Amino acid sequence: MNVEERWIVRTEGDTWDIVSSVGVTALGVAAERAIESARSDALMRDPYAELFVAASGHEEMNRLLADPAARPDAVQGSHFMGLRSRYFDDYFLTATAGGVRQAVILASGLDTRAYRLAWPAGTVVFELDQPDVLEFKEKVLADHGACPAADRRGMAADLRDDWTAALLDAGFDPTVPTAWAAEGLLAYLPGATQDLLFERIDRLSAPGSGLATDYAWLAGYSDDELAGIYFEGVEVRGLLYGDARADPDAWFAARGWHTDAVVLPELATRYGRRIPADLDRFNSTRNHVRYLTARSPLRG
Ligand code: SAM
Repeated sequence: MNVEERWIVRTEGDTWDIVSSVGVTALGVAAERAIESARSDALMRDPYAELFVAASGHEEMNRLLADPAARPDAVQGSHFMGLRSRYFDDYFLTATAGGVRQAVILASGLDTRAYRLAWPAGTVVFELDQPDVLEFKEKVLADHGACPAADRRGMAADLRDDWTAALLDAGFDPTVPTAWAAEGLLAYLPGATQDLLFERIDRLSAPGSGLATDYAWLAGYSDDELAGIYFEGVEVRGLLYGDARADPDAWFAARGWHTDAVVLPELATRYGRRIPADLDRFNSTRNHVRYLTARSPLRG
């Protein structure tokens, strides 16, 4: 493997496309979804994931998809991604089964749920991410004739800024229940910005709303544990904000939301996925990875 190892320095207002800085993580998780999708016992299937990798021209990730077995670390990542994707898929399907018809996917990256899930008629799905990330995704999907299965509305935004006015302008209705998701996002935001994001979600959530999120590296990971973990050539430590921050579960519980968090091994048990021990690079720390679903209080 010929990985160019890079250390990125995050700065206020920094931006990226799909092959740079934080953007490459969106492509990396799409590659892992492509590997998961090809498994006979796949927990989810994303037919578009491999198309993104091909269109990106990212050499390392194209080599990876040509021969995943040569990269045990990425195969392991694909197990985690299968579990994570399925968790968020089930969250949205449960929400819509319960009557929710408005979804907001924060940091949607190359998530194709708006195209591949069975949304009930009339469901509106907002997707927020950096402009170049959204543009790349929309172009690849359009080039392959993919059609959204919901009323999808892409919205370029920096989630460190206030995106609420733009969301309302795009047709978001704060009087109806919303299914929010922030998957693979929180660690890329400074701690204070995470609080602001949560406040905005809380403020815009009508009774009956929900939020699903995950936070792998916010609690319990020492610098030593993170050192040397590369995500397709970019050192993960450099992309994350390691500053002190609120525990998401406690933050929402304190505001009256009903919360339910599971750790990764519980998710593996729930979905019957045994992660081969020799692939488990997070063996000592994976209990830190949490998947949280929160339901808004029934206040008027
Ligand atoms: N949720 C997607 C998924 O699971 O496939 C993408 C996850 S990827 C690990 C992280 C995503 O967060 C990227 O798409 C990146 O562009 C987005 N992101 C991180 N910080 C952001 C910010 N300040 N504004 C907008 N998007 C951001």
